[in-house]
Amino acid sequence: MTIKIEKKIKGYQVVKPDDKPAETPKAAAKPKSAGAEVIQMHESVERPEVLVGSTYKIKSPLFEHALYVTINDIVLNQGTPHEQRRPFEIFINSKNMDHFQWIVALTRIMSAVFRKGGDVTFLVEEMKAVFDPRGGYFKAGGVYMPSIVAEIGSVIEQHLKLIGMIKDPDISDSQRALMEEKRAAYESGQKTAEDTDMPAAESAEGGAFPASASLCSKCNTKALVLMDNCQTCLNCGYSKCG
Ligand SMILES: [Zn+2]
Repeated sequence: MTIKIEKKIKGYQVVKPDDKPAETPKAAAKPKSAGAEVIQMHESVERPEVLVGSTYKIKSPLFEHALYVTINDIVLNQGTPHEQRRPFEIFINSKNMDHFQWIVALTRIMSAVFRKGGDVTFLVEEMKAVFDPRGGYFKAGGVYMPSIVAEIGSVIEQHLKLIGMIKDPDISDSQRALMEEKRAAYESGQKTAEDTDMPAAESAEGGAFPASASLCSKCNTKALVLMDNCQTCLNCGYSKCG
């Protein structure tokens, strides 16, 4: 399609994939919804006076003081069927000033990514993959954190799940039932084997998994146990034998 330009060009804009195509007869034929324009996240969306915020506390053995991660959300298209809550900015506060400059840099860059719009969930995977060369640590529940950056990433993941931007992977009901069954079988097996000589060994770490469990490479949780001669994860259902 060629368009002859008859006027002087005063300005131009590159068409992005997200942009609606120029009105074609087909699009024009569509009934227009009563003046409702769906607002998508974009750099030029102005910060409203009030944002909804959530603060998460991170306590890591690598840091003397706790970190407080605050994520403020913007609600787009409020009260319409297109209502959407998206992260808008992130701040991290701590008494610990050792890491202040990179924390400020990280949060500013993340906030900028949030405001750009589009899919921001990749941040979670990028951050969770950061390993501290000095070694990570275990959280209550047996989840392994390879670094403090990874833990900030998992906080963002938790938040994006809360606001519905990340959906939990679909575990079918039958698979869930199988996992429950395996877990129950393992626990009853342990009870008969150990009798009651070792009380509360499992809750020593505050974890829901046996203390003897090893680290699952799929979900980074200490929940891998040997069942029927096969390493099986009691947390995510991963099995070495398929
Ligand atoms: Zn697992």
